[in-house]
Amino acid sequence: MSNVSSSVVLDQVVPARAPWSAVVKKGQTLRIIDLESQQAVDALFYNANAYSERYSAQETVIAQGSAYIGKGTGLYSNEGRVLMTLVEDTCGRHDTLAGACSCESNTVRFGHETKYMHACRENFLIEVGKYGMGKRDIVGNVNFFMNVPVLENGELVIDDGLSDPGGYVDLLAEMDTLVVLSNCPQVNNPCNGFVPTPIRVIISEAVPA
Ligand SMILES: [Zn+2]
Repeated sequence: MSNVSSSVVLDQVVPARAPWSAVVKKGQTLRIIDLESQQAVDALFYNANAYSERYSAQETVIAQGSAYIGKGTGLYSNEGRVLMTLVEDTCGRHDTLAGACSCESNTVRFGHETKYMHACRENFLIEVGKYGMGKRDIVGNVNFFMNVPVLENGELVIDDGLSDPGGYVDLLAEMDTLVVLSNCPQVNNPCNGFVPTPIRVIISEAVPA
């Protein structure tokens, strides 16, 4: 991992399966590190000063003309503004289409017995509740380090993640941004290599060197 500058304002390990959130102020950078590799990190973004402005997968995909995000991609809001920019990316494959796992989708995909397994949607609900938000505020999300190839027939496939241990993304806040993460607890498909693992999050005053 490259150096993180001395201007670190927060440095935390998010346990496997856990939610996390923080406000990243304009000009600060959030680094999300996939410590052990192949760990999907589901992410939502809100204007920290007006939560009704939030990440829009549709605006993001249209703005860059690609289903995938990577270095240089702006994460657009439903008001057409950039919340954060990916200024560094060691992985090169992140998903904008597959959404967050939920108890409901688990039962459809993997059988009724999975209904009571913890899922990203539950993590998101726990975390957005801290800011007075609820179900209707959970929109289509980014899945960092998640490999979802789009087949020629338009089908999505959840495949083995491509991130190496210590792989990371750096997100530069273009406005004060509330970032809500779910360290995905899924064990029924390969998005976490079938073993959810911890991640590390670092907020710095500037883009890390
Ligand atoms: Zn998940």
